[in-house]
Amino acid sequence: MSDDRTRAVERVKDEVCALHAELLRWGLVAWTSGNVSARVVGADGADDLMVIKPSGLAYSELTPQSMVVCDLDGKVLEGDLSPSSDTAAHAYVYRHRPDVGGVVHTHSPYATAWATAGEAIPCAITAMGDEFGDDIPVGPFALIGDDSIGQGIVATLDGHRSPAVLMRQHGVFTIGKDAKAAVKAAVMCEDVARTVHLARQLGQVERLQQHYVDRLYDRYQNVYGQDGAAAAATPATTSEGESA
Ligand SMILES: [Zn+2]
Repeated sequence: MSDDRTRAVERVKDEVCALHAELLRWGLVAWTSGNVSARVVGADGADDLMVIKPSGLAYSELTPQSMVVCDLDGKVLEGDLSPSSDTAAHAYVYRHRPDVGGVVHTHSPYATAWATAGEAIPCAITAMGDEFGDDIPVGPFALIGDDSIGQGIVATLDGHRSPAVLMRQHGVFTIGKDAKAAVKAAVMCEDVARTVHLARQLGQVERLQQHYVDRLYDRYQNVYGQDGAAAAATPATTSEGESA
């Protein structure tokens, strides 16, 4: 590996290791479940790689050095430990979605409850319109061990705005332009799964009308935050602003 390539891989290992702490911090994982991966973009014609959590290691034991480097077929290139048992699913997503730079998997309880019931989370709150731009869809049931989970993720999210999919009777997979964005989607997915579930206990939940969903999504994706603040020139007291 060239020096630049080595530095890029080390940077991604640091990032992926640090992001695992976010899964714990937001209560998305139990014991050793859950994983984050990131793509290492291959410069100068080199193949892309991925960095992923090792299998079965406690979160408190994760270090940048313990992260596993694989090619996009899931073959280990660097690392003393076996990669996460979900590596094939992550690798499949990277191979079929060149726009994806990060993938996260959790069994976070509220979102996984919706997955277990086999029901999409209806886009019923503004925060969902912002981040997901649609209902959070349910993907097929698939067993670990081959490409079927990856296929289910890619097929379900194809042409869908949502960066999260509820894999039936399993858990959540999220994608993002980078690993941090995928972690954010996993955190937000659990948050809205809980809120919509709680709302259901109070009564009927109505999906937002599509034109509102479209407006929320467009604004949040294009003008929300510091980069778009000047363009938006919207007071911070809108419903979207409250979610900041
Ligand atoms: Zn799982």
